[in-house]
Amino acid sequence: MAQKTDVKIQAVHQKLDDIQLYINGQFVDGEAGTTFENVNPFTNDVINQVAEGRREDIDKAVTAAKKAFDEGPWGSMKLKERMTYIDRIADLIDEEIEEIAILESLDTGLPISQTRKMTARAAENFRFYSRMVQSIHYESYPVDNEFINYTVYKPLGVVGLITPWNSPLMLSTWKVAPALATGNTVILKPAELAPLTANKLAAIIDKAGLPEGVFNVVHGFGETAGASLVAHPDVAAISFTGETVTGSTIIKNAADNLKKTSMELGGKSPLIVFDDADLDRALDAAVWGIFSFNGERCTANSRVFLHKNIKDKFIEALKQRVQNIRIGDPMDPSTQLGPLIDKGHYNKVTGYIELAKEEGCEVFQGEVPEDVKAGNFVPPTLLLNARNDMRVCQEEIFGPVMAVIEFETEEEVIRMANDVKYGLAGYVWTNDIKRGHRVAQAVDAGMLWVNAQNVRDLRIPFGGTKYSGIGREGGHYAILEFYTEPKVIHVSISDHHIPQFGK
Ligand code: NAD
Repeated sequence: MAQKTDVKIQAVHQKLDDIQLYINGQFVDGEAGTTFENVNPFTNDVINQVAEGRREDIDKAVTAAKKAFDEGPWGSMKLKERMTYIDRIADLIDEEIEEIAILESLDTGLPISQTRKMTARAAENFRFYSRMVQSIHYESYPVDNEFINYTVYKPLGVVGLITPWNSPLMLSTWKVAPALATGNTVILKPAELAPLTANKLAAIIDKAGLPEGVFNVVHGFGETAGASLVAHPDVAAISFTGETVTGSTIIKNAADNLKKTSMELGGKSPLIVFDDADLDRALDAAVWGIFSFNGERCTANSRVFLHKNIKDKFIEALKQRVQNIRIGDPMDPSTQLGPLIDKGHYNKVTGYIELAKEEGCEVFQGEVPEDVKAGNFVPPTLLLNARNDMRVCQEEIFGPVMAVIEFETEEEVIRMANDVKYGLAGYVWTNDIKRGHRVAQAVDAGMLWVNAQNVRDLRIPFGGTKYSGIGREGGHYAILEFYTEPKVIHVSISDHHIPQFGK
């Protein structure tokens, strides 16, 4: 079957049992009985068949989730008890990190050294929200000696979570953990290109003993299963992570029944290196920031702006790194870059590399080893002599491709960094503390890092501005601003004046 590129490979590429939907505490086939193929990005062999959910399966899942919310014990159980379930999910993920990481690498082509960490992070997401929900305090507004007004935050009901294929488990747990911890019931619609770990999560939640209907997984395509979830009148909110165009479609469809939405969308994030920066650390961060997760990373620094005084030196160092990045089998612990998710995405990314040549870039790439050519590999790629107004600098490529742009002044680089429709993340490298803050505050993006790679603090508001998203999740933002509805209760503590009409 698959090629083994290194003796250190610990897992093999294999066929797996077919997977089903998880509805009302049961693994079931889709009502229509149809399935779709799940393909391994390293071999392009079929891994298994996946039950295809459609409108009728979404209807079934929503009915179960609504019943679990309205009549079940989940929302009304004591907080501590609900959190023991959430902590148990975290423990069960931790117990199976290796198996889950293998599934994730098999499904996505992400290197196992990275999926192990992502899986540990998925467990931490549950623990974090268990702690966070227990520590949230509400407001009260005393009004003279007449009233006390106080807020409570109520779960929304049934929430729909629609997730992408890059880092599927970790990204879905950013949503599943706060949604469940706050007492909602959930329908997860995972990406059709990477469905395996969603079923693993369902199996874990089943083992953790959550009441039936509280958590459901419906596989299927965006236009059918996803759209039906968005359109369903009993679904109170949709949290979506994915492409900007899909997000826009979902907002339009959700408008019909005034559904609450949260949008985590695409990016084209700048990394700016001034000539006084610690160049070694900036280099490490720039290379990791674009080539980790196979370049399929929403916060990737796909545009790197180099000050003209250090540009040549920095590019030489980048070229060396690009040639040395270890490309190979995602199951090999020494692999740093694996294959892209599927042939369609491979064609998109390689199409952009051809476009870069037409637009006048010099393309510099690493080399894909002969023995892994069955996979969807794109080598680490630098687009040199790029200009910010080129399409390859304006559009999200979502692969291991970094455009390199020269700048001279602070004003110029801020203008270029902001001259793009996206606004997800940004990175500034300088040893001038005032400039670091100044530039970080001037770049239009939801998340900026100064002299740092993308280290994620789970407490921060995560999300973007412009075409990169609407709203924030993460930290208490997910709890107070998305997965709950604030309600204010006004209580009179005196005989305040009430007009006596008609007396
Ligand atoms: P995608 O938009 O193609 O698909 C995401 C999900 O939406 C899938 O589950 C898909 O089935 C579903 N979907 C598609 N059409 C739908 C519709 N009409 N109604 C309802 N659901 C629908 O995205 P993708 O290709 O899976 O993921 C890559 C994209 O995700 C990139 O643009 C990346 O930047 C973005 N992303 C953003 C973040 C963030 O936090 N901002 C994180 C990760 C990925």
